[in-house]
Amino acid sequence: MTDRSRSSGRSVRAAIAGLFGGRSRTVVVECRRCGTSVERGARACPTCNCDDIVTYTIR
Ligand SMILES: [Zn+2]
Repeated sequence: MTDRSRSSGRSVRAAIAGLFGGRSRTVVVECRRCGTSVERGARACPTCNCDDIVTYTIR
């Protein structure tokens, strides 16, 4: 039982990594004004309508 929950935790992590292309790199896109996370490629913040969007790449 314990081993099963341990391995499922690992596979969830692998699944999340797969969503990001399987690379150890995460791209975060957020509004510079209010800090809301926005979709990649968005040109304006849905919260404050500011177009000052900043993209960070975390390795
Ligand atoms: Zn904003």
